[in-house]
Amino acid sequence: MGRYGLTDEVVELREQMRAFIDGEVIPAEPDLESESGEDRTRGRLAELKALAKQRGLWALGHPAEIGGGGLPLMPFVYLNEIIGRSHYGQVAVGSASMQDSIMLHLYASDEQRERWLKPLVAGDIYPSVGLTEPEVAGSDPTLMQTRAVLDGDDWVINGHKWFTSGASRAAFTTCFALTEPEAQGHRKFSSIIVPTDTPGYEIVRAVPTMGTTAGQHCEVRYNDVRVPRDNLLGGRGEGFVIAQKRLGPGRIFHCMRWLGQAQRAFELMCDRAKSRWAHGSYLSEKGEIQRYIAESAAEIQAARLMTLDAAEAMDRGDRARVEISLIKFWGARMLHNVIDRAIQVHGALGVTGDTPLEKMYREARYARLYDGPDEVHRMVVARRILRDPQGRVPWGTLGGGEN
Ligand SMILES: Cc1cc2nc3c(=O)[nH]c(=O)nc-3n(C[C@H](O)[C@H](O)[C@H](O)COP(=O)(O)OP(=O)(O)OC[C@H]3O[C@@H](n4cnc5c(N)ncnc54)[C@H](O)[C@@H]3O)c2cc1C
Repeated sequence: MGRYGLTDEVVELREQMRAFIDGEVIPAEPDLESESGEDRTRGRLAELKALAKQRGLWALGHPAEIGGGGLPLMPFVYLNEIIGRSHYGQVAVGSASMQDSIMLHLYASDEQRERWLKPLVAGDIYPSVGLTEPEVAGSDPTLMQTRAVLDGDDWVINGHKWFTSGASRAAFTTCFALTEPEAQGHRKFSSIIVPTDTPGYEIVRAVPTMGTTAGQHCEVRYNDVRVPRDNLLGGRGEGFVIAQKRLGPGRIFHCMRWLGQAQRAFELMCDRAKSRWAHGSYLSEKGEIQRYIAESAAEIQAARLMTLDAAEAMDRGDRARVEISLIKFWGARMLHNVIDRAIQVHGALGVTGDTPLEKMYREARYARLYDGPDEVHRMVVARRILRDPQGRVPWGTLGGGEN
């Protein structure tokens, strides 16, 4: 085994993945951008998905029992960094919905697995998740107001969500709703699978956002939405535990992908610095630009090692609460900084659509908000460190303990 768990098998897979992402997906990006965001079952993306399957690159990080490649999280960091080089990489190789697959794998009944998990892993359907509501702070999910009440053999759901990403093309939304008003705190909520064609599930609008894909982040009203009681995912009152099981690995997947985006921006920055001439030398020969390059290299490498550390802890069965929160805010900042410097080195070209950088920059701004804003992750880290009376570093790898 090589350093930081890098095996020959993973090196080989990385090379194959790099050939696919750089050779097939990145050149197709202009076509993919003009394809409809709603129907991704036909066209260029569908061709790429078929090619990924043919080359043995499909769903490599999904558990083997559900039809995936069964790679543990740590080696998957190396692979997903390559996949993340393109905004379309994850969808093209069937790893975009991994956190939803993990959640269903852990909690779905046999019937739910057959109906939702199988087609999800095959890339035939897309999932979506409804936690955040416009009226209350998404940072504190105990405030959620959407209600689900049992009526005979059905759950009847009423509420208002937004930022249900991908709802307009998803086959279902895992809706988190208040079902146990008498219970304490987190035990009040359950998760319920709602097919998006259920009467009363109303997509009010695709919320216009500063990101890329139009129609992605949806405002949804639940108007007496009625689904069978068997659509409950896991047990009553388990909604929070289930959300955390999804969010934990999901945050690591984001960080892996951000490494790929940052690495691509970094390469563009270095190439530009080496070829742009001003004031008697190439930009790459100027101390200020060398500082951008060195700082970006340091931030990327730090984020990579922290991501590997979090993945290693999770592979060991640790909940890795601190490691995950650390990389969530550190990785998001790293992503922003590296793309920002790359834009700066490109001058005016950096803010045009002639390089991928301006789009990457808009997407990077999201990273500081979704799956918990920076402040909440810093709060989690600081509280855990301050809680230890001996002032020990409380996380698994360095502190030697479960967290
Ligand atoms: C691109 C994108 C995709 C998303 N996709 C989904 C999705 O698919 N499903 C879904 O349910 N949600 C999704 N979200 C919503 C996301 O999870 C929420 O935006 C996030 O949880 C924050 O909630 P909020 O927007 O209500 O902000 P609020 O909770 O109102 O927080 C606003 C700000 O308050 C500050 N703040 C909050 N808590 C603290 C604290 N304890 N200490 C200090 N400052 C604090 C932070 O600066 C924070 O940004 C998505 C968001 C984005 C941007």
